[in-house]
Amino acid sequence: MIAENSSKTYLDYSATTPLHPEALKTMEPFFKGSFGNPSSIHSFGQAADAAIEEARGKIAKYLNCFPKEVLFTSGGTESDNLALRGIAFQAQKERNANHILISPVEHHAVSHTAKQLASSFGFELEYIPVDEYGRVSASDVASRLRPETACVSVIYANNEIGTINPLEEIGEVCKRQNIPLHTDAVQAGTYLNMDVRSLNVDLLSLGAHKFYGPKGVGALYVRDGLRLLSIQTGGGQEHGLRAGTSNVAYIVGMAKALELAQEERSSHLNHVQGLRDRMIGSILETIPDSQLSGHLTERLPNHASFVFKGVDGNQLLMQLDQLGFACSSGSACKTGNPEASEVLLALGLSDDWALGSLRVTLGTTSTPTEIQNFLDVLPAAIETNRMLQGTLA
Ligand SMILES: *Cc1c(COP(=O)(O)O)cnc(C)c1O
Repeated sequence: MIAENSSKTYLDYSATTPLHPEALKTMEPFFKGSFGNPSSIHSFGQAADAAIEEARGKIAKYLNCFPKEVLFTSGGTESDNLALRGIAFQAQKERNANHILISPVEHHAVSHTAKQLASSFGFELEYIPVDEYGRVSASDVASRLRPETACVSVIYANNEIGTINPLEEIGEVCKRQNIPLHTDAVQAGTYLNMDVRSLNVDLLSLGAHKFYGPKGVGALYVRDGLRLLSIQTGGGQEHGLRAGTSNVAYIVGMAKALELAQEERSSHLNHVQGLRDRMIGSILETIPDSQLSGHLTERLPNHASFVFKGVDGNQLLMQLDQLGFACSSGSACKTGNPEASEVLLALGLSDDWALGSLRVTLGTTSTPTEIQNFLDVLPAAIETNRMLQGTLA
């Protein structure tokens, strides 16, 4: 039995969220009596299939699309892979398109997929510039679209810096040129508008564990009529686009979590945003050489991210963990040789700022006391960290 971290404070809700108890409740029957294979003809199978189709309907309602436009996957990463590979290979086959356009602030599930398409499958990968807040502008997309562009992928809300992209406008210019637009909306599920029609997107990725659903399940919206090459072949599940017996319990849990997120959105949004704003204000005021990373207002309401000059971000995370606070940073931990995150460098930050990153993300059960306790220890932790860097330099 693993000890519950009751004395620890979790401030890393962009990494993952706990499963909503009501979502868990809806999953339980499918681990017990309702174990049928949804592809089976008999009543056991039909019951499982009905549960999946009900879940698909709920998610479609949330996305304002047709149920047949929703595919189930094993998570955000698979949704991103299916979207990019599926659309790129189809466009290559259909119209000899070999140009892929992405932002430099994508999650690795998109950026590493695009890089592999370029290095191993003959695609040309081009990056759309971003401003100092990590935002893509529609005009920068428009000027880079070509007839041979296979797809464009722009993250909806950034996991590292919280910045929200103007998808409506980006989608508008893509639509005019008839180039499909994919968005990684994995961070957006809990708090942002998820209406795919008003967002003007052709493909949209979701991952359940970022909105209080279970890990290992996700969804991909694919606009009706858009053709993808399947990347996992086998049975005919999910319109033949994602073969394999459906993960019934997890799909049901995801749909319930999304439904709850929508119902509880406005109260949660005000709660986390109020706490978050006070925290940002206090940190920028009390800690010298500190800067918010990402946009101040066009950002996820539960998300705060900072850079501190001359700080070792990984060491800061370990210090905070010992003090009882679970946070995150942007730099990949490489022993002895930390590397600044590509996302932070894309904002134009230098290494001595970008290596000192801290991400603090709040959740529905975060309390003012937790935040106050965190604010009480952070300035001293930063000071200690800077002193250590000084002695090592
Ligand atoms: C978490 C995350 C992913 C990956 O989703 P998984 O469900 O963990 O595979 C992709 N993109 C973004 C923006 C994320 O935050």
